[in-house]
Amino acid sequence: EKTARLILGDQLNQRHSWFGKRNESVVYLMMEIRQETDYVKHHVQKVLAFFQSMRNFADWLEKQGHEVIYLPIDHKENRQHLEDTILHVVKSERFKRFEYLLPDEYRLDIQLQKICKQLNIKTKSFDTEHFLSDRKSVKTFFSGKKNYLMESFYRSMRETFDILMQGQKPMGGKWNYDQDNRNKYREEVPVPPLPAFGRDLSELLKTIEKAEIETIGTVDPQNFPWPCSREESVTLLEYFLEELLPYFGTYQDAMHSGEPFLFHSRLSFALNSKMLHPLEVIQKAEDCLKKDPEKYGMAQVEGFIRQILGWREYMRGIYWAEMPEFASMNFFHHKKKLPSYFWNGNTKMNCLKHAIGQSLEHAYAHHIQRLMVTGNFALLAGIDPDEVDRWYLGIYVDAIEWVEITNTRGMSQFADGGIVGTKPYVSSANYIDKMSNYCSSCHYSKTKKTGDKACPFNSLYWAFYERNREKLENNPRIGFVYNTLSKMKQKDEILKQAESYLERLEEL
Ligand code: FAD
Ligand code: SF4
Repeated sequence: EKTARLILGDQLNQRHSWFGKRNESVVYLMMEIRQETDYVKHHVQKVLAFFQSMRNFADWLEKQGHEVIYLPIDHKENRQHLEDTILHVVKSERFKRFEYLLPDEYRLDIQLQKICKQLNIKTKSFDTEHFLSDRKSVKTFFSGKKNYLMESFYRSMRETFDILMQGQKPMGGKWNYDQDNRNKYREEVPVPPLPAFGRDLSELLKTIEKAEIETIGTVDPQNFPWPCSREESVTLLEYFLEELLPYFGTYQDAMHSGEPFLFHSRLSFALNSKMLHPLEVIQKAEDCLKKDPEKYGMAQVEGFIRQILGWREYMRGIYWAEMPEFASMNFFHHKKKLPSYFWNGNTKMNCLKHAIGQSLEHAYAHHIQRLMVTGNFALLAGIDPDEVDRWYLGIYVDAIEWVEITNTRGMSQFADGGIVGTKPYVSSANYIDKMSNYCSSCHYSKTKKTGDKACPFNSLYWAFYERNREKLENNPRIGFVYNTLSKMKQKDEILKQAESYLERLEEL
């Protein structure tokens, strides 16, 4: 039976069982569509990375002897919408079966089910063979329990996959080395230069521009830093393991104005597009530790593995457990618009200027910048989580809703009221100063709470807690904040300062 098999842009898993054997009746279908480039305004590097990776994947499929229908963004048969294009191709090519890989996004899941109903042929969905847990794992794991807790899920994943284990016990005697991963970066070790992939994406960039896809951010197409094929992804992985992993844990939470990437892997795009499998990344990191414990050390490797085996799988499980309600949660009823400096970096707050500036330049910021600078500020300022989500979903090369929204609306904005995390991630300048070099050259004074040039974070922090007293006071992890607040002599002045900042957010 002539079969069409759909492959979405984030399903580039060469090791999927679909591709092992050539099947003459199967045609693979891939498309670059406006539906996907336009649901939010994406960073130009994100559009380039996806299109280039998809094109490379289609080439690879053909080299393996598979038949492929690939519809570039400017192809005349391309209807620019998933539904219209699939219906058109299936009809005109007289396919008798339609098969697809289960998407990671709720919206596409619903859309594909609808498409299947419209097609009057046999349809079937397949697992992407990428994740280490299935859509329901997290929900099942925590069924009957009051809260989700990443740490307990992570420990069970360590046991299930026998990662960093000595028999039944965690290797090294401890499950978690978070305490050792809190160093500031003082340029003690130089950050090695990025590996160059040596190809030119100027032609593809022209195509994207000609199609008038609206994008944000900048790009150097001759020196495009994101891996766009399985080979390039493996190169980046090997580079990370050799050069960066030995310092990963130590500087995991550090931020530095001159080092946008520090010792982070930048593997999120390769992972989220499925060019790399999470288990291969985890096992290779574990092998490094086993082969050369002096070079690597438990704190470095455990810190890295926890992100992928723990956080990444956990977030996906929460997504499927809580969608679609999750996407409209707004626990604090925040309603403000995102200030315009989120789109141009034009602010006197040095931490935000750097975190936003590098996001526009590189389509990248690492976790602590996303959580404790931009996310922290958005939460303290009371920005509508819809606005915050749209920004994160557009600007980062790795942003796909299942992992973006759980991190943004959940972990960072606490708009879920405590599903992902147990308390809001907010801080004053103190934390930002402890982990970065931003404050030392800032227009604002990190130590001042009130008066001229007082750091906005310092008053907004207390005002956030005061404003949300009813919702947070009884949280056992937060009680201490209200104790401090009640004893604070300057309280009224601080709240007034915050109020004046909130009134002129645009000018900060
Ligand atoms: P590394 O620091 O090298 O970590 C290794 C890998 O661990 C990452 O590639 C990623 O796959 C995984 N990982 C680490 N932290 C998380 C996490 N919290 N959740 C899931 N996976 C994690 N990650 C995305 O992949 N897409 C997003 O859209 C996204 N949006 C985020 C929004 C906010 C507000 C926050 C706070 C975090 C977000 N993250 C997102 C998680 C994390 O910040 C990125 O995965 C990470 O910065 C990617 O850079 P890296 O590959 O260098 O990561
Ligand atoms: Fe950011 Fe305040 Fe530090 Fe300036 S002083 S960099 S605004 S935390």
